[in-house]
Amino acid sequence: MSPETLMKSPVTPAELSSFSPDDFDTYVMHTYARFPLALERGEGCRVWDTNGRDYLDFVAGIATCTLGHAHPALIEAVTRQIKALHHVSNLYYTPQQGALAKWLVENSCGDKAFFCNSGAEANEGAIKLARKYAHDRRGIEHPVILTAQASFHGRTLATVTATGQPKYQQGFSPLVPGFAYVPYNDIAALEAALEELDQDQPQVAAIMLEALQGEGGVRPGAVDYFQRIRQICDQRQILLILDEVQVGMGRSGKLWGYENLGIEPDIFTSAKGLGGGIPIGALLCKASCDAFEPGNHASTFGGNPFACAVALAVCQTIEGEDLLENVQQRGEQLRQQLRTVAEKYPGLIAEVRGWGLINGLVLRPEIDLSAPEIVKVAMAEGLLLVPAGPKVVRFVPPLIVTSHEVDQAVRSLEVALERLS
Ligand SMILES: *Cc1c(COP(=O)(O)O)cnc(C)c1O
Repeated sequence: MSPETLMKSPVTPAELSSFSPDDFDTYVMHTYARFPLALERGEGCRVWDTNGRDYLDFVAGIATCTLGHAHPALIEAVTRQIKALHHVSNLYYTPQQGALAKWLVENSCGDKAFFCNSGAEANEGAIKLARKYAHDRRGIEHPVILTAQASFHGRTLATVTATGQPKYQQGFSPLVPGFAYVPYNDIAALEAALEELDQDQPQVAAIMLEALQGEGGVRPGAVDYFQRIRQICDQRQILLILDEVQVGMGRSGKLWGYENLGIEPDIFTSAKGLGGGIPIGALLCKASCDAFEPGNHASTFGGNPFACAVALAVCQTIEGEDLLENVQQRGEQLRQQLRTVAEKYPGLIAEVRGWGLINGLVLRPEIDLSAPEIVKVAMAEGLLLVPAGPKVVRFVPPLIVTSHEVDQAVRSLEVALERLS
């Protein structure tokens, strides 16, 4: 890159606004199939593109902007902490990390927390912790972690191996050893896999699942399935790891997805909604399975006072503004209205499913129409949605969404469906 080119880089807000998708693609790796939309501002559940057009945001940074955009609590925490101290490393104590850990422990089944920067990194930590536990406490030499088909656990090498979807793994072999896969919500298949894997000597260290499969198509876990898994894990000293990266932090209408299933995991992870859009991830575990010792695991940015102060503000706002109540009510409203739409298009829509404010409009598998096509037409109608696989349209608005905004979103979806049919 020549110095002349560098000097032409946009600096003023006006220059940034005119930085086109073509300019963008010249410089950024093509790892994402982006929609042709450049966003520059947000407030509440609304975002504006560089042409000044506004959109109702039912994506929320993929289930991440818990408090929507430019929420006063977020602005206050960000400004306060950036002025005070933003990063010093884990060589020292910072009160914000301790306070966030305390809030999470007091509001979950976990006893101890470790902080990192993303969902994949939190899941990497969970995988390492489960292996350490298996080696130290059970003497397992080659531990195996069972995960579900259609799951999603991240894009690092270990978490993409844990992800039970070959499309994410293709091209990246050799994958990480020590994983096996079972169909989700199928207890007989899980019991059969355990029998086979553990027949000579115990190998299965952990079962790692999402309480509701997000990327895999907004598929809620079955209560009896998870309760039986909890019993099996207790009987066999197998750790139950729940990936709460998408469904946790209030999105399901409960603070944690596992609360919908009447069980407690041994280890769980959080990220997406935790920082309200500021990068942070967390790994929590019961005291009984905290097998890490100093030096075993680390993350340079993990749990810095900036990210922790913001996440704590998100937690306190969920609590203080009674957002779980809003999630339950708005979720109920959204599912009812989507079901009314589904009844109008029985040839198109098979089902509406989800918990709280993570919901999926499931298309009939036999029809030509795909979820990305609906998302594109809805965007033209001013509504942002995100697919969860080829046949499910996902609705994950900020947890502060209002009744009026839910009405509006469903109306825009109806217009989009009319245009498509
Ligand atoms: C998004 C997601 C991840 C990965 O999180 P990143 O922050 O992108 O690494 C892991 N698990 C689940 C369930 C997710 O939805």
